Amino acid sequence: MSDLLKELMSLDDCTFHQNCDLTSFTTFKLKSVGDLIEVHSVSALQNLLPKLNKFHKNFLVVGWGANQILPAQCDELVIHLDFSFDKKYLEEKKDEYILPASLGINHLTAHAVTFGLKGWEVFTGIPASLGGAIFMNAGTNLGEIGSLIKKVMLVTPEGKIREELITHESFSYRKNHFVRPGEIIIGAVMIHHGVDEKISQKIKDYLQYRKISQPLTTKNCGCVFKNPMKEFPAGKLIDLLQLKGVQSGDLKISPKHGNFMENSGKANWDQFKALVDLINFEMDHFYGLEFELEVKIPYH
Ligand SMILES: Cc1cc2nc3c(=O)[nH]c(=O)nc-3n(C[C@H](O)[C@H](O)[C@H](O)COP(=O)(O)OP(=O)(O)OC[C@H]3O[C@@H](n4cnc5c(N)ncnc54)[C@H](O)[C@@H]3O)c2cc1C
Repeated sequence: MSDLLKELMSLDDCTFHQNCDLTSFTTFKLKSVGDLIEVHSVSALQNLLPKLNKFHKNFLVVGWGANQILPAQCDELVIHLDFSFDKKYLEEKKDEYILPASLGINHLTAHAVTFGLKGWEVFTGIPASLGGAIFMNAGTNLGEIGSLIKKVMLVTPEGKIREELITHESFSYRKNHFVRPGEIIIGAVMIHHGVDEKISQKIKDYLQYRKISQPLTTKNCGCVFKNPMKEFPAGKLIDLLQLKGVQSGDLKISPKHGNFMENSGKANWDQFKALVDLINFEMDHFYGLEFELEVKIPYH
C-alpha cells in the first residue's frame, strides 16, 4: 500500500473509497470508476489538501455533479464535500447567511419561497451544491447567483483558509474569477435584496416553466454548451439545425431541449464525443461557428 493511500485511509472525518463506482456522483451518470474521498469537516479538508500537495496527487471536486462528466477510469482523486448543516438555520429569515459549500441550493429555494426573498429566484430549479453553483456562477434568465454572494471562504492547497470579498469583477457568465488552482470553496456569505411576497409565486411559476421546457427527470448534465450569444441560445440553434432527437448509442440530443443530452441507459464517453462533434460540424457548416462546452470535462 502506498504512503499516500495509508494517509488517506487514516484521515479523521473523511471516508475514503478505493476504486469505487463513481457513476452516481454525476447527474449524467456516464459509467466511471476511481478513488473517492468524502470530507465531512473543514478541518479535515485542511489536513487533506497539504497531503495531496506533498504527494503531487491531482484531484477534482464533485459537488452535486450536475455539470461534470467524469472519465470512464478516473485517475484523479475525487473529493466530495459532505459538511454537516443544521436545517433549523433556515427556519428564520436573516439579513445574511453563512452557508456551507456542500448544501444543496434546493434548500435555499425552499427558504426563499417561505420568506419571499428578493433575488433568490435567480437560481430556481438549478440542481447544484452551493460550492458548485458559485464556482459556475450558475444562473437562469432571471439572473446569476454571483449577484447574491458577499464573501466566499476557501481552503488553499497549503490547508489555510482564505476569504474572498466579492466585487463586480468576481464573476462573469458561468465563471468565477477568484478560485485559484488547487483551492476548494468551503462556504459563502449570502445576501438578499429584501422581501417581496410576489417572489414565492415567481419561483413556483418558474419551476413549472422549467418542468415543461427541460428534460429534468432524465439523466443529463444540464446545458452541454454555452450560449454563443444571448439572442441565440445554443438550444435554439441546435433546434434550427434539426438535430433534436439524434442518437448515438444510449445517448440522444433531447427532443425537448436541443442543448440537453439524455442518457437512456449505459451511455459512454465516446457517444458523448460523437454527438458533440456532430453538432459542432453542423454549426461550423451552416453558421461558421463552434460551440464552447459549458459542462466541465476534467483533464480533457
Ligand atoms: C437538469 C439540469 C438543469 C440545469 N440547469 C441549469 C441552469 O438553469 N443554469 C445553470 O447555470 N446551470 C444549470 N445546470 C448545470 C448545473 O446545475 C450548474 O452548473 C451547477 O452550478 C453545478 O453545481 P454542482 O454542485 O453540481 O457542481 P459540479 O457539477 O459538481 O461541479 C461543477 C464545477 O464546479 C467545481 N466545484 C464544485 N464544487 C466546488 C467547490 N466546493 N470548490 C471548488 N470547485 C467546486 C467542480 O470541480 C466543477 O469544475 C443544470 C444541470 C442539470 C442536470
